[in-house]
Amino acid sequence: MSTEKSARQPAIGIWPGLVPLPESYVGRTIPHVEGTPALRSCRLPEDFSVREVMNLDLTSKSAVAEFARQWGDLGVLNDPDNVARAFEAVFWIDSLDSEPFRRFCQVAVAVRDLTRIWLALRGSLSFDELAAQWESLAPAPASAAEAGDKLAIGLNAVLHPFQVHVVLEPEGERPGTEHPTLVSVVCLQLANAITEGASYARCANETCGQLFSRQRGRAKAGQYRTSGVAYCSRNCALAQSQRDRRRRKRAERAAKRAPQ
Ligand SMILES: [Zn+2]
Repeated sequence: MSTEKSARQPAIGIWPGLVPLPESYVGRTIPHVEGTPALRSCRLPEDFSVREVMNLDLTSKSAVAEFARQWGDLGVLNDPDNVARAFEAVFWIDSLDSEPFRRFCQVAVAVRDLTRIWLALRGSLSFDELAAQWESLAPAPASAAEAGDKLAIGLNAVLHPFQVHVVLEPEGERPGTEHPTLVSVVCLQLANAITEGASYARCANETCGQLFSRQRGRAKAGQYRTSGVAYCSRNCALAQSQRDRRRRKRAERAAKRAPQ
C-alpha cells in the first residue's frame, strides 16, 4: 500500500520560492471583530503552525481568546471573495457570517490539517496518522495525490495577498495599502518551510514530543538550530539531561546497595 502511495506522490514545490514575510498584518481580536483592525508585526516565532496553532486548545474559549489577543484573529480571510471561498470549500468552512469563535476554530483546524498534509507528504507523519489526526469537516485525503491537491488549493488561496494581483480601491484611496491577515502570514511561513524542505522531528524530551523543525530558545532571539537537534527547545534539552542524570545516579546507588 505504501509503495503504491509513494509511487503516486506528487512532488511539492513552491514557486517562485522564499518570500519574505511582510512587516505587518491585520490583527483584530475576536471580541472586537467589528473594530478598526490593528496592525501587528509579522515577527511570528518559527514553526508557528506546527506549534502555536497545533497546540492551541480549541475547546477552551479562554485559550482561543488569549491566542487572539496575542496574535490576532485567525478566522479572518480578507482576500477577494472567490479566493476565500476556495479555501472554505477545501475544508468545508462555514461562510463568513458565522459566529467569530466558531469561525476562528474552523480556520485554525484548516491550518492544522494543511500543516499535517505537508508533514505527511514530507514523511514526518504517516498517512494513517494524518487520517487519525484530521480535524476538518471535509474528509481527510484518501491518497497522496489528493493530499497534494488540498495543499495546493488551500495554500494558494490564503497566499493570494503575496501574489501579483490588481487591487481596486474606492475613489480617493491609495491602492496597494492592503495588509494580509494572520492566516495568510502563518501559511506564508509554512510555504517558506516547504521551499526550504524543512525536516521535522519529535522532541526527544520524553514528556514533550513536540514536532519541530527549529530549536527555540537560543541565546539570541531569531537564532535557530536546524540540524542535529534532538530537542524542540533549550529547556527540553536541559530537562531531559537532568532526568537522565537523576536516573543514572539512582541506578548507581541501587547497584551499590545490591549484594555482591
Ligand atoms: Zn520539547
